[in-house]
Amino acid sequence: MLVFAKIKSIQQKIKSLKKGTSIGFVPTMGALHKGHLSLIKQAKKENDIVVVSIFVNPTQFDKKEDLINYPKTIDTDLSLLKSIYCDIVFTPTAEEIYSNNIQSQSFNFDGLEFQMEGKFRDGHFDGVGTIVKRLFEIVTPHKSYFGEKDFQQLQIIKKMVEKYQIPVKVIGCDIFREKDGLAMSSRNSRLTKKHREVAPFIYKTLKKAKIEFGTKNASEIVEMVENEFKKQPLLELEYFEIADEETLQSIKNKDQKRKYRAFIAIFANKIRLIDNISL
Ligand code: AMP
Repeated sequence: MLVFAKIKSIQQKIKSLKKGTSIGFVPTMGALHKGHLSLIKQAKKENDIVVVSIFVNPTQFDKKEDLINYPKTIDTDLSLLKSIYCDIVFTPTAEEIYSNNIQSQSFNFDGLEFQMEGKFRDGHFDGVGTIVKRLFEIVTPHKSYFGEKDFQQLQIIKKMVEKYQIPVKVIGCDIFREKDGLAMSSRNSRLTKKHREVAPFIYKTLKKAKIEFGTKNASEIVEMVENEFKKQPLLELEYFEIADEETLQSIKNKDQKRKYRAFIAIFANKIRLIDNISL
């Protein structure tokens, strides 16, 4: 496994690959878990070589404290990547990516950026767009893999690729969960024991919403979820929305021809967790 921290070195390596070598790319912020590894394994199956980036991107954090406290486990990450035969790892510093100007580009994602996460995390998707576009330019992958765990991010990356005509196929991958249903996340390691114990309540409630979506309308389900969380004082609901998968706009009435998803964000003490389910 080759590890590069410099843009020039990874680009040199990529240039030297035999013509026609397909590159699968998985961008991450490290603190790797089985969710990340499932993306990398899929990329391995579908490409000749796999590149994984580990970069905690400062411009996508709206709170400095969240950036500082984001878990960093680079040594374990590299061992894990080696154990699943990852080919190339890119671990740049913020300076390498941004020089002395740690700032986002402004994007227009046709309104996708104003929904859900966009309402609560100021500038988040400009930061995501900036780093992913930059990484695509550096790595020049044929296919890139993103988790449905961050479904809004996945849709925004697809939109960016379409708008900027970036020659990469964006592939969405299933959410990988703990046995008790909690969606795997690097942030889970920061939960206290008692918050970790109640956290599966998030997915349980999403599954309940999915069942009720068969017979009830969206506002009744929103009310049900809000009431459920009132009974669970350790988890503070930030938002729950039922939205159209394509436009990400929240809905009132169902249209049989459209696909919908339920999206949720909660705080467990100071740790923010998100999840979603297709309906
Ligand atoms: P992150 O390191 O949190 O930026 O995540 C890197 C990639 O892994 C993103 O495309 C995430 O959506 C994806 N990912 C994170 N957690 C999971 C999970 N539990 N299941 C599937 N993909 C995930």
